Amino acid sequence: MPGSFESKVATAQIERPREAAASSVRSMNALERLLLPQAAGVFWPWGRIGLNRPLIEQSGLDPGDVTAHELVHVGQQQREGFVPTLLRDLLASREYLARPHEQEALEAEVTRPVRRGDIPLPDPNALIRGALRKQVTRGR
Ligand SMILES: [Zn+2]
Repeated sequence: MPGSFESKVATAQIERPREAAASSVRSMNALERLLLPQAAGVFWPWGRIGLNRPLIEQSGLDPGDVTAHELVHVGQQQREGFVPTLLRDLLASREYLARPHEQEALEAEVTRPVRRGDIPLPDPNALIRGALRKQVTRGR
């Protein structure tokens, strides 16, 4: 998929508007990278998604896939609530990748609309330019 890191993140957000509206995406901070050095992304219950950009770029991951994955976790919490989600994960399996919520997020990466090409997505770069224009206008 062509496009910048930011446009790929924006595309994943466009694909999941409900989850995107309830979250914000930023770079992982130093503490998150220290605690979770192998994680491409992290999701916090208060709706923050952190992306490990150096790791994503070095490992050739698609930042849109990582964002889509974390947005699925946002949706899981919207659907089930934080504590039930956590309990279900802890009771399901000790192996992280085998947990149902993790399986759902991994499956969503593979079946993203942008990958299937079955819905026409707006140009994320145009949306970013539009949002920037709005911010500039608002600032006056
Ligand atoms: Zn996950």
